[in-house]
Amino acid sequence: MILEVIAESEGPLSVSQILMRAKKKKVALGIATVYRTVNLLLDGKQIQSVILPSGETRYESADLGHHDHFQCRECRNVFDLSVCPLHLARGTIIPGGFIVEDHEMTLYGVCPKCARKRKL
Ligand SMILES: [Zn+2]
Ligand SMILES: [Zn+2]
Repeated sequence: MILEVIAESEGPLSVSQILMRAKKKKVALGIATVYRTVNLLLDGKQIQSVILPSGETRYESADLGHHDHFQCRECRNVFDLSVCPLHLARGTIIPGGFIVEDHEMTLYGVCPKCARKRKL
């Protein structure tokens, strides 16, 4: 069930967000159960942790492949981006002689839902 909540999400979730969404599905869980299950799913490599630049940890499915994140400064939700905004192929040499192998990126701004609320 917790795995389902994580898989259905628009982006990585915190433990308290997982708990809230489980409650919406009328599943009564305690925070300790969520922590325990998250750790089991991490051990089983079914989910992975995402550490945001702020230091906050969230969880997402482990099978998503490369994607970047967008955090809304208003609702604090984190979204998976379907398009990678950074066009740097593996092996690209950038100024300074650094050979790029990978990247993880979090963009910040306002999500479409909060942008609509702003206009009201
Ligand atoms: Zn938002
Ligand atoms: Zn990317």
